[in-house]
Amino acid sequence: MYADLSVETFMNGLIKRNPGELEFHQAVREVAESVIPYILSHSKYEHAGIFQRMTEPDRSIIFRVVWEDDKKNIRINKGYRVQFNNAIGPYKGGLRFHPSVNLSILKFLGFEQTFKNSLTTLPLGAGKGGSDFNPKGKSEREIMRFCQAFMTELSHHIGPHLDVPAGDIGVGSREISFMFGQYKRLKHEFSGTMTGKPLEFGGSLIRKEATGYGCAFFMEEMLKNVGDSVQGKTCLVSGSGNVAQYCTEKIIQLGGKVVTLSDSSGFIYDPEGINEEKLAFVIDLKVIKRGRISEYAKKFNCEFHEGKKPWHLPCDLAFPCATQNEIDEKDAIALASNGIKAIAEGANMPTTIDAIKFFEKSKVLYAPGKASNAGGVAVSGLEMTQNSMRMAWTEVELEDRLKVIMTNIHSQCVTHGGENGYTNYVKGANLAGFIKVANAMLAYGVV
Ligand code: NDP
Repeated sequence: MYADLSVETFMNGLIKRNPGELEFHQAVREVAESVIPYILSHSKYEHAGIFQRMTEPDRSIIFRVVWEDDKKNIRINKGYRVQFNNAIGPYKGGLRFHPSVNLSILKFLGFEQTFKNSLTTLPLGAGKGGSDFNPKGKSEREIMRFCQAFMTELSHHIGPHLDVPAGDIGVGSREISFMFGQYKRLKHEFSGTMTGKPLEFGGSLIRKEATGYGCAFFMEEMLKNVGDSVQGKTCLVSGSGNVAQYCTEKIIQLGGKVVTLSDSSGFIYDPEGINEEKLAFVIDLKVIKRGRISEYAKKFNCEFHEGKKPWHLPCDLAFPCATQNEIDEKDAIALASNGIKAIAEGANMPTTIDAIKFFEKSKVLYAPGKASNAGGVAVSGLEMTQNSMRMAWTEVELEDRLKVIMTNIHSQCVTHGGENGYTNYVKGANLAGFIKVANAMLAYGVV
């Protein structure tokens, strides 16, 4: 199919077809570097143009969202749903509400989701959506009106066997509830069309904890594989939202010491470590009061570093749990020179390609989000199963299932990414994720 398939020729074509979409280019390049050499030695994928097909979303839906603020001003936002790939199951992936949301960001997230969902071993396709709506500073009523307006259009494009959205940055259980309520009203039915729902109406235990817990479990597996553990390790966590909160909780339970958390204003450094009581303060601050992380520093009398990232502090382990591209090459060099042993990403694509290359060259264990943060979508998949069966598993059952899934993802990475005693988790996750989706696409023929 391709005259001279190489990463560069492939990327040149992709950039030409998707001009200006820098985040999307970055996400595809990271995968292309592992997958294209594999395709070159497996001609069935090359002849069928599978990777070219996998980098083009099935469809991207863009729509207008009109709502009224508390001062009766008419406000207009852009809404999106990128249905990336449904070869192995209904489209599945979160909704992000953040002013930075654009098509490039959602295509990078949807593309990553294809591999992540494949790794979970569950029958889940991939999608991602959201809006450039900024929830910060909005009243509860404004959030509700926005969510209802957003769902009024989105409802035409989703369904329990078609596309099942969940939360992401700026979309937690409050927003999911407003949207699910509107969907239910519009469709005249109760179905498991969204995940991350509260427990009272079809939500799953462990869903809110799943991404963060899964990330900590994945780190424990990486360390176990080299005869070590999280116990006694000093950990840097960024972010202070859903993923950061529950990643911190599980690290504490595994015996690690978390000394930082952050938000878009800066980071706090608590050298004594964040314990359960301090974490409860953070959860209340972020989920209920919707305050800033700097208030932690005031309350517990520690340092707040305004406008800074935590990566220059000494540590054993790092868990970037805020947003994309928060660790660049300079940060990676600082982490390595401070003796870091391993990084597990809670966020999606928080590490730049140069920084990943540096970690690989330095033989630092590095887990890409598509492997280490897959716990969230995995428990969303379990929420879909419970909704279909009209029943609910217990907390213990679900945490066990989550652990098994994370261990399984880890094993797939080791199988496909082992290189002379070092596991290249990027290569392992990309190849394992790719093979399953590619085989399904081959089986469907030319579609
Ligand atoms: P939340 O909205 O709950 O929290 C996001 C956190 O990241 C906040 O602390 C926020 O600070 C910070 N943040 C957001 N944007 C920036 C920025 N540009 N610079 C610095 N800090 C920023 O989101 P989640 O915890 O759900 O998501 C965090 C990451 O994890 C995202 O990359 C998401 O895609 C990924 N993820 C989430 C899953 C989930 O189940 N929720 C599943 C898998 C991945 P502030 O409040 O100041 O904006």
